[in-house]
Amino acid sequence: HERAPLLELANVDACYGRIQALKDVSLKIYAGEIVTIIGANGAGKSTTLMTICGVVKASAGSITYDGSPIRGVPAHALPKRGLVQVPEGRRIFPRLTVLENLEMGAYLRKDAAGIRDDQNMVFDLFPKLKERAHQHGGTLSGGEQQMLAIARALMGRPTLLLLDEPSLGLSPLFAKHIFQIIRTVNAERGMTILLVEQNANIALQMAHRGYVLETGRVVLEDDAKTLLHNPEIRKAYLGE
Ligand code: ATP
Repeated sequence: HERAPLLELANVDACYGRIQALKDVSLKIYAGEIVTIIGANGAGKSTTLMTICGVVKASAGSITYDGSPIRGVPAHALPKRGLVQVPEGRRIFPRLTVLENLEMGAYLRKDAAGIRDDQNMVFDLFPKLKERAHQHGGTLSGGEQQMLAIARALMGRPTLLLLDEPSLGLSPLFAKHIFQIIRTVNAERGMTILLVEQNANIALQMAHRGYVLETGRVVLEDDAKTLLHNPEIRKAYLGE
């Protein structure tokens, strides 16, 4: 890579009280990539995403996004710089309609025509949401709420999208749909994506590169295809 990374973590530590959840984590994401983090339960995958977006404070190291240091920048200041997270679980607004939830995703934008285009795009991607545009978010099924959370994030036209377990709780069919959408927004819109996913097999098939976390440390990084064919990775994370 000749260009600077879009996001770089260098020697990042993060703690919950006396539990050190991240130890000396370094990783890079280049514009246009899908990068995945795989690891066992409790390895620190979600903590990595939350540390990037400022919800968990790093206690050491540096985090650089789009050429600027962002360690210590409050979480709410990052979406307007194009860094948007879809957290694990569904955090939609239950008392707002589907349409209003989508509008909230675009609240930082002023380009009415672009917003309209993106609304049409997410309705094309998620026809179920279009059917239910005027229904309260809280009355959607779990899988539909998950889709709404992702659709709302897309409405912010993020430069870097952090996705934590997007297939959690989805049927295999819905999960497949979500993965297709992640591929589409990456390939067609050039959206850069950092993906944490319980299904390491699918995550490695989708991603360009991957990092393996073990008890808060990066133990391996490589092209996703290489990781996918690594017998030790297959044994430890792909259930072989
Ligand atoms: P999973 O796949 O199970 O979600 P993960 O790799 O995302 O796991 P994290 O949720 O980042 O792992 O957790 C990393 C470590 O930090 C774990 O040991 C966990 O118990 C601990 N941890 C996470 N959140 C907290 C918290 N709010 N308070 C204390 N410890 C926490």
